Formats: sequence, structure tokens, C-alpha cells
Amino acid sequence: MHDLRGKIALVTGAASGIGRAIAEAYANAGATVVVADIAADKARDTANALGDGAMGIAMDVADESHVDEGFARVERERGPVDILVSNAGIQIISPLVDLSFADWKRMLAIHMDGAFLTSRAAMRQMIAAGRGGSIILMGSAHSHVASKFKAPYVAAKHGLLGLARVVAKEGAEHRIRANVICPGFVRTPLVEKQIPEQARELGISEAEVVRDVMLRDTVDAEFTTLQDIADTALFLAGFGSNALTGQSLLVSHGWHMQ
Ligand code: NAD
Repeated sequence: MHDLRGKIALVTGAASGIGRAIAEAYANAGATVVVADIAADKARDTANALGDGAMGIAMDVADESHVDEGFARVERERGPVDILVSNAGIQIISPLVDLSFADWKRMLAIHMDGAFLTSRAAMRQMIAAGRGGSIILMGSAHSHVASKFKAPYVAAKHGLLGLARVVAKEGAEHRIRANVICPGFVRTPLVEKQIPEQARELGISEAEVVRDVMLRDTVDAEFTTLQDIADTALFLAGFGSNALTGQSLLVSHGWHMQ
């Protein structure tokens, strides 16, 4: 199940954090990995570090032509994509009443438009190639629960569940599966940045943000790790049938149980 030799895997936002850990796990499992990130230089550096035919491409997932041209280039230079991990994301912390419309739209563009555009491009290649595929959307525990100051993030992450379910239904006849990974807090740059931001908004210390906000509802007060998410992404990429499709997998130390 963990042998991805002969597979082409495109991971967005793979120049950092969770995406990078997944790209490494896929490369170790034998896949040809495409590191797609808006940070072009970091994407190329990451791909160089992965070796073995890995490819770094500049891609703004919220831009239709970037996405379509990026996928076309991957098909020309490596072949059609078998595995997509739509992972690129940002966070903006703000009370809803202070949130600008521009920031709301930016969040939805990266998280929702990005997931739609990359899923569409991947499905088109997977259907034409006729060899099935796995589409993984990076949700969050916030696909299932809400937190203060994260309105667009929570809305977008909930939305990914709906998108994955439609992809699962439309993809089934082509042996394309779609699932959502829902991590708890993982210490990546995205999370490190929001600890002081949340401390400011809530008027508490950074240690209290970690203990009383981020990890409060976990079963053991522990962060989820990059390895935990990479292992889950490996499992979903290699799963062999439509039995596991349209699901969301919470990997969050029990923060939310469904
Ligand atoms: P990160 O900041 O370490 O990495 C995000 C990557 O996305 C960066 O390399 C960045 O350049 C890239 N990116 C940003 N905007 C982009 C765009 N428009 N097009 C292409 N690439 C873009 O963050 P991370 O923590 O690894 O987060 C990755 C994903 O995991 C996000 O979708 C995030 O919402 C989700 N997630 C993270 C956590 C966590 O605790 N870290 C928890 C749940 C879900």
C-alpha cells in the first residue's frame, strides 16, 4: 500500500510545513513528486532536495491559468498526475467584525478556489489517462469545529468536505477517490505566526494560547506532528479501492471525535 513507484504526485504548498513533509514521504515511497508552491525558489530547492526526478514549479493555486499551465507542464515533462494533495493555505486571524472583505476573499480564493482548480485539473488528467487516482484535500479540525477569529478559514475548511464528497461521487466511475485530512495543530510556520496573534486578540500569554486554546480539547495536550500527517497522506494515496472515498480523517489527538 505504501509503494508509490510509477506514480506522479503533485503537492501544493509543498515548499514548507505539512506539504513538504508529505512530498518527502511520497518521494521516499518511490513517487515522482511535483512540489507546487507560490514560493518559486523554495519549491525548486525542495524538489532538488527530494531528488529522483522531483520537479519544483511556481503555482498560485488561486490563479486559474497558473494551475492549468502548471498541470499541463507536469503532464508534458513527467506524465499525468495520479495523486493530488491540495494543501496550500494561509491563515488570517481577525474578529469577524474587523475582517476586511478583501481578506475574506483572499482566504476563500486560496483554500476553496485552489482546491477546486487543482482538483479539476487533476481529474481531467486522471480521467484521460484512465488509471484512477487519489485526490486529497487538506482540511483541518476546523472542517468540523469552529474557533473565534477564524471565520474564512473555518468556512473554507468546512467547504472542502462538500467538495471532496462531490469529487468522490463524480470520480468513482473513473476510480478516482477523494478524501480530506483534518489535522489538529501542527507546529509549522502557519501556526507559529498565529500564536502571538491569538495572544494579542485574546489578551492572554502565548503559553496560554497553546495550553488553553490550541490543545485544550485534545486527549493528551499534544501537538499533531508532520509525521502523523505525512503517514495519513501516504495511507490515503496508496489505498487501493473506492471503499475509502468521500471521507474526512481527523488526525488531531482527539480534539474532535466524529
Ligand atoms: P505553511 O505556512 O508551513 O505552508 C504553506 C505553504 O503554502 C507555503 O509554502 C506557502 O508558500 C504556500 N502557499 C501559500 N499560498 C499559496 C498559494 N496561493 N498558492 C500556492 N502555494 C501557496 O503551512 P502549513 O501549516 O504546512 O499548512 C498547510 C496546510 O495545512 C494548509 O491548508 C493549512 O490550512 C492546513 N492545516 C495546518 C494545520 C497546522 O496546524 N499547521 C492544521 C490544520 C490544517
